[in-house]
Amino acid sequence: MDGISANLSKLYENTPVLVAAYDAFDRLRYANGAFRCAFFIEPGEQPFWSELMRRNRAAGRGTIIREPNFDSWLVSAKSRRGKQPFRAFETDLVDGRWLWMTETVQPNGWMLCIASDITEIRAEERAVRQDRDFAIKASYTDELTGIANRRYVMGRVDEMTRTSIQHGIVGCVAILDIDNFKQINDRFGHATGDLVLRDFALRIQEDVRRTDCFGRIGGEEFALVLPDTQVDEALLILDRMLAIVRMAVPMPEQPSFKYTFSAGVAEWMAGETATDIYTRADRALYAAKLAGRDRIAADGLRREPPAVVA
Ligand code: GH3
Ligand code: MG
Ligand code: MG
Repeated sequence: MDGISANLSKLYENTPVLVAAYDAFDRLRYANGAFRCAFFIEPGEQPFWSELMRRNRAAGRGTIIREPNFDSWLVSAKSRRGKQPFRAFETDLVDGRWLWMTETVQPNGWMLCIASDITEIRAEERAVRQDRDFAIKASYTDELTGIANRRYVMGRVDEMTRTSIQHGIVGCVAILDIDNFKQINDRFGHATGDLVLRDFALRIQEDVRRTDCFGRIGGEEFALVLPDTQVDEALLILDRMLAIVRMAVPMPEQPSFKYTFSAGVAEWMAGETATDIYTRADRALYAAKLAGRDRIAADGLRREPPAVVA
């Protein structure tokens, strides 16, 4: 066995194929020589994926990012990164190389990335393939906020319930809805309403674990899919999000303006489909609204907001 691992690690280190592994927090935990060379990583370095992308972008190397605003690109990329068991795509590097990148994610969130150089392969059809990839990406992205859209999130709910049905792993779905949003529109105008929607989307997205999926369902309604998570843990995560939003100041010129949201969460029950669990989360959201807003309700369990300590 030792002989196998020793040979494997030599092979990995010397192959021109790029190999890397990220943990559930999206921190790089392993990168072979080819990967380190393509993305300018020192041996033993363990940067977070977003840091790595940011510093390579600043230095004009690594992955080509066509979006002029790096932060908008990052939000959109993070809203889909590492949320499916497997995906594959083409990507190009500043040094002119084209890579076929695959990402394999296991239930605990660790992700294996393997990329091969395809610079010489079917280069003439590359523009068509790239247009197709952009179209797929657009079909999964919410235009206003740049995060995942309804189609993408519903796909993840479906995937989660299928995995649960097969393996009995528990997961949760939460629906998050901004409180009294109509009043915000009425008082400050639709453009400010849009600004609040973006503020909300970005703040929550920032706090979402890579294995979870957050997206805008429509209007001022969002969903959070938490695979392999029990309801108690989901409630802690959502409580933290309530606190983040309570502290938000989306309009610096109106520092006294605050907003809140309510959420309903449901834990997967044996045999349930995506529609079943979504319907229960929606019912819980209704209960949270009825109970006074700015709070979370779990299907079958209602939680009061924590007492404010003066
Ligand atoms: P509740 O606390 O019960 O959720 O009340 P609410 O006012 O947030 O909910 P309601 O469903 O009554 O109003 C939602 C409003 O969201 C109505 C609609 O005009 C507005 N809205 C929907 N989509 C958008 C959008 O993209 N931008 C803006 N600015 N407003 C939107
Ligand atoms: Mg609302
Ligand atoms: Mg609503």
